[in-house]
Amino acid sequence: MQAQQRGAVREAKGRDLGTASNTIAGPEADLAPKSGHKVVRVGPDGEAWLEASRCSNCGAVMAERTRACRSCGARNTLVPFRPKAIGTLYSWTVVYRSFPGIKVPFVSAVVDVDGGLALKGTLRIDDHDSLKFGMPVRIEFDDAGGAKDKDGRPYVGFHFVAEGASA
Ligand SMILES: [Zn+2]
Repeated sequence: MQAQQRGAVREAKGRDLGTASNTIAGPEADLAPKSGHKVVRVGPDGEAWLEASRCSNCGAVMAERTRACRSCGARNTLVPFRPKAIGTLYSWTVVYRSFPGIKVPFVSAVVDVDGGLALKGTLRIDDHDSLKFGMPVRIEFDDAGGAKDKDGRPYVGFHFVAEGASA
């Protein structure tokens, strides 16, 4: 009986290895995109969204998932939530010098995101003279500059664009 079962398993494995769908599904499943930032979550289908934490004791919002609130120190009070991928420009600087290979100038920005989260990132905008405090922006997910982990899995990052601008 045991030998028969083993034989059946061996036969099934042999069939699996022989099918094209299994050969493709293995490596591709391993190369599913993964988060390249602490607030970015990526579903199995590659869909990305923002996730942050809000303290149920004091209301503070933070990007990191920690055991204790960084504002009031209460433990186990952080509740995850999904901010909408929109916000307003809080501060920025135009960067003219960077590492070799990084295209300059670019705009490094701090954005007040929906729900109380603050995020730093690159604001893609051509007209730097149009930058204004409080201007509406939105978050777009991207390929994190083509970055991949050691196994070749691509990362998902984000950048800001002016609301109403075409990406
Ligand atoms: Zn708190």
